[in-house]
Amino acid sequence: MGTGIVTDFDIIIVGGGAIGATMALEAAALDYRVAMIELRRPDFASSDPERVIALNYGSRCHLQQLGLWEDMAAQGAGLIRHITVVEDNRAQHVEMDAADVHDRPLDALGYVLEMGPMLAPVYRKLAEAGVTVFSQTRLLSLQADDAQVSVSLSINGESAQQMTARLLIGADGTNSQVRRLAGIGVAGWDYNRFGIVASIRCAQAHRETAFECFRKAGPLAFLPLADGRYSIVWAMRPAEASQLLRMDDEAFIAALNRATGAAVLHQTGMVEAASPRACFPLELSLARRYTAQRIVLIGNAAHTVHPVAGQGMNLGLRDVRVLADALRGEPAHRDAGQSIVLQAYAEGRRLDVAAVAGFTESMVDIFGIGLPGAPQLRGLGLGLMQRWPLLRDMLLNHAAGMQQLQEESHG
Ligand SMILES: Cc1cc2nc3c(=O)[nH]c(=O)nc-3n(C[C@H](O)[C@H](O)[C@H](O)COP(=O)(O)OP(=O)(O)OC[C@H]3O[C@@H](n4cnc5c(N)ncnc54)[C@H](O)[C@@H]3O)c2cc1C
Repeated sequence: MGTGIVTDFDIIIVGGGAIGATMALEAAALDYRVAMIELRRPDFASSDPERVIALNYGSRCHLQQLGLWEDMAAQGAGLIRHITVVEDNRAQHVEMDAADVHDRPLDALGYVLEMGPMLAPVYRKLAEAGVTVFSQTRLLSLQADDAQVSVSLSINGESAQQMTARLLIGADGTNSQVRRLAGIGVAGWDYNRFGIVASIRCAQAHRETAFECFRKAGPLAFLPLADGRYSIVWAMRPAEASQLLRMDDEAFIAALNRATGAAVLHQTGMVEAASPRACFPLELSLARRYTAQRIVLIGNAAHTVHPVAGQGMNLGLRDVRVLADALRGEPAHRDAGQSIVLQAYAEGRRLDVAAVAGFTESMVDIFGIGLPGAPQLRGLGLGLMQRWPLLRDMLLNHAAGMQQLQEESHG
């Protein structure tokens, strides 16, 4: 590596998506010397269709503590004050409202942000915090021993260059190379579904309401954007998805109006315009372990869940918080990669990840798949929630990320 370039760090983070970059800020705030490796050149532009994320109230509080929230929200954040859950266009539905959350007045249950612009303030802060960012850099190999972890990198296409650290954090997404090179397997499955995303305009103003429509072929979610449109995530079978991607706007809008159904259209008005579409494969993928020698996994590298409940990034931000807690204190500052630090993180995450993956799976199972008896179960679920406020409150707290805040205030 050229002269003058630092090649030894306390922590190297592979992956500069929202989770890796937030982790880099947390680690720098704890006085670690941090390098972040990102494959691509960071792009903060708005995309079309927008890559949109719904963050819950718990994540907002975390980002606020990091001094990021105000700048992120200034880029434009849609508020989710109200959620309506409907099933296959039946009259029975469940309503949740920010005003119904006990203990704490909330301005919203969640916030809808666009990924590119949302990352801009995070990267600005990385420079201020002294994080060394290597973009357009590819991880080629890694090796860990009792003393350190060494990585071989290709920076800007140049051949293998070495870097060392006490700890390597894999934040490189669903197909994590760190996970693969560390020999950590995954459990999970492909749902044989794709998620079509697009931004749409409906005839009526959205009144800060998100809709979850559970259909047999897969859920369809409407998230209110700051500019009055909705972002949709529409899960469907591969053949249906490829057909919809080929349609012109008029045919796509007609198909979307049919899939949405009267119960929701009654509140949104007809879909009138749609952006270009993008498509993602939907899968469940859970790392069998979150740690290996001097290595930890966070974010989608550790767990990729179905977007039905909009929990993936919220879960990743909670990884960041727990890992930052494990990295606080004298023992971690002596050696951030020692196994007691890594085990504290793994212990701290197991239950939450299992709970969210289980919750998301149960929604996919009950609402999305035609098991015998599923229609009765689905109807029973929504009916029960209407009649049993405790169950509805549990779902409400889950949507807003309140358990996390309650645990912290009791802990
Ligand atoms: C359709 C859809 C809708 C979703 N909606 C929501 C939602 O509403 N709310 C929510 O909370 N979550 C949602 N999610 C999930 C959310 O997008 C992810 O959980 C989140 O983006 C994961 O962030 P990450 O930083 O872990 O991974 P990524 O965003 O995948 O970032 C990984 C980064 O690592 C880099 N990288 C990869 N390999 C290498 C390498 N070898 N070397 C260097 N860098 C590398 C990549 O370039 C990338 O920048 C949704 C997901 C989908 C598919």
